[in-house]
Amino acid sequence: MFKYIKTNKIFYGIGYDVHKLTQGKKLFLGGIKIPFPLGTVGHSDGDPVIHALIDSILGACGLGDIGNLFSNKNKNYKNIRSTILLKNVIKLIESKYFIINNIDINIITEKPKIKKYRKKIINLISKICKIKFNQINVKGKTTEKLGIIGKGNAIASEVVTSVILNV
Ligand code: ZN
Repeated sequence: MFKYIKTNKIFYGIGYDVHKLTQGKKLFLGGIKIPFPLGTVGHSDGDPVIHALIDSILGACGLGDIGNLFSNKNKNYKNIRSTILLKNVIKLIESKYFIINNIDINIITEKPKIKKYRKKIINLISKICKIKFNQINVKGKTTEKLGIIGKGNAIASEVVTSVILNV
């Protein structure tokens, strides 16, 4: 009879990423293109939010990190949208019977302010991760004008994700 009892175990993962801001680049945060005079430098589209999210998911599932899955030496990933990488990660964790329980995101910027884009970001991530809007939380933070982020030279993101092993 024990064969039929499901063991829903919960696991947590953390992700962190920072990207430099520069002129002549596009800015993607949480998969959304943000109108802003500066953009992030990166091998892919340089979206620190999606990268931190991917690392938190992989961390929770014990599957390594974004660098070993999508090497920045691989030309296939040059300028790729990070949302495509996230879709691949969701496929990977589904194949291992994980589902996402909740996602908590900090986006750390001096500018732009995140509040305006919060709903759009949550909507997009909830679709890709196949979870509900209320399973995702997004917080915009500043560093009180201190350091590289406070001076407007970089944007960072921290994400915690919990997953359920559904076997
Ligand atoms: Zn990154």
